[in-house]
Amino acid sequence: MKSYRKELFFKTETRRAYINITNEVEQAISNSEIIEGLVLVNAMHITASVFINDDEPGLHRDFEKWLEGLAPEKPYSRYEHNGYEDNGDAHLKRQIMGREVVCAITNGKLDLGPWEQIFYGEFDGIRSKRVLIKIIGE
Ligand code: ZN
Repeated sequence: MKSYRKELFFKTETRRAYINITNEVEQAISNSEIIEGLVLVNAMHITASVFINDDEPGLHRDFEKWLEGLAPEKPYSRYEHNGYEDNGDAHLKRQIMGREVVCAITNGKLDLGPWEQIFYGEFDGIRSKRVLIKIIGE
């Protein structure tokens, strides 16, 4: 079995952001030369997510409204976590949006559904963050 590992780096200019990383994952699969296998893509931070959904700006605004309704950023005093930090909301947003995705690789390509795209979800940005891509197969 072959394996391949790559990290992606992010430093968003805003506290929250959704970044389509499908092309980066495709590139990693191409570099891995794995034809049949699985790719794991996970956020390496507990205030960021990797998830699959539609690349549609209205949906991303809906995510923002929905998540702010569930876990508003402010007031910071709302969260017991916010002693030395102000990112209690970001931990909760990450929890509901998920840590990682696992996708099939078929014929050397990402085997996604017709509208599926892979996103990095940032909930506590303006700092350096990483995503891990791990590919296994033959
Ligand atoms: Zn924290």
